[in-house]
Amino acid sequence: MFDLIIIGGGPAAASGAVYAARKQLKTLLIAGEFGGQSVVSEKIFNWIGTPEISGADLAKSFKDHVKYYEGEFLTIKEGSLVEKVAKTDGGFSVSTNKGENFDTKTILVASGSSRRKLPDTVVGANQLEHKGLTYCATCDGPMFSGLDVVVLGGGNAGFETAAQLLAYTKSVTLIHRGAEFKADKITVDKVLSHPKMTGILNAEVTEILGDKFVSGIKFKVDGEEKTLDAKGIFVEIGQIPNTSFLEGVVTLDDYKRVKIDPWRKSSEVPGIWAAGDCTNILYHQNNIAAGDAVTAIEDIYMFLHTK
Ligand SMILES: Cc1cc2nc3c(=O)[nH]c(=O)nc-3n(C[C@H](O)[C@H](O)[C@H](O)COP(=O)(O)OP(=O)(O)OC[C@H]3O[C@@H](n4cnc5c(N)ncnc54)[C@H](O)[C@@H]3O)c2cc1C
Repeated sequence: MFDLIIIGGGPAAASGAVYAARKQLKTLLIAGEFGGQSVVSEKIFNWIGTPEISGADLAKSFKDHVKYYEGEFLTIKEGSLVEKVAKTDGGFSVSTNKGENFDTKTILVASGSSRRKLPDTVVGANQLEHKGLTYCATCDGPMFSGLDVVVLGGGNAGFETAAQLLAYTKSVTLIHRGAEFKADKITVDKVLSHPKMTGILNAEVTEILGDKFVSGIKFKVDGEEKTLDAKGIFVEIGQIPNTSFLEGVVTLDDYKRVKIDPWRKSSEVPGIWAAGDCTNILYHQNNIAAGDAVTAIEDIYMFLHTK
């Protein structure tokens, strides 16, 4: 029986694992993979203590730091995905996609979130996925060198994607549904000032055009239909929390995020805590995810030792 199982491999889970091991809690970390969402970023500029670091190096630093504590108090299962959490007499059982089952007194959920897909109402979106319509600029961007491309989504991820693509594409048009871009103003101003960049607000995408491959996009601005030629469409329209394995056990909000107490990071079920992007916190950042997991570990420690 573990004292604690941590689910995840991003900044929240990695910080949680380091703190738990140092507090000598008998801990199991189950990580799909190390790094988390910003692993795809070319450069991260706000991870405190490192003025500049690539997503890949950040992931490696998480793994190295966690591995440093592997041993008597910390066990690591990398490459397994938690499929189910269930309540037991002494705590919880956690099962993975590899048929493993583990028992634990407490759980820290740090499973983050994944990309939101375009709705089925956008004609052509499903058929043209991986045929010019992509959800990963870092993975697929270089294939669109010298071509016109579109980015969907006006948050930080959308603008970061546009900034990456500007380096080698012919032009980038960023299309956003809302009346204002949601990304940090400093990023919006910098990216929009690029001569190859165009930003469009209040636009509702209706169709991805193309037969075998993407050839363009249709959208409505103030009810007026417009068409734009493009060979690549990069979708950055938000995230979906990775919490399906908690359904029926933990209270989730309308967006399937774990509802947590902002002071303690505890869920509404005694014995389960959650931190980072899988929770109903307002802001999503590496430093916040890491800090929230540390708060959770402090609280878990108190729970295990004062209960
Ligand atoms: C493109 C992009 C760029 C970003 N750039 C920045 C930036 O510059 N600065 C910044 O501060 N923030 C940035 N963010 C936001 C930041 O990445 C997130 O806020 C942060 O990663 C959240 O951390 P997390 O640990 O909560 O979850 P995540 O990073 O989402 O990590 C979740 C982890 O859980 C694992 N996992 C998922 N499901 C399971 C399961 N069932 N079983 C086991 N493991 C599972 C995954 O493999 C992953 O390791 C960026 C986000 C994106 C998408």
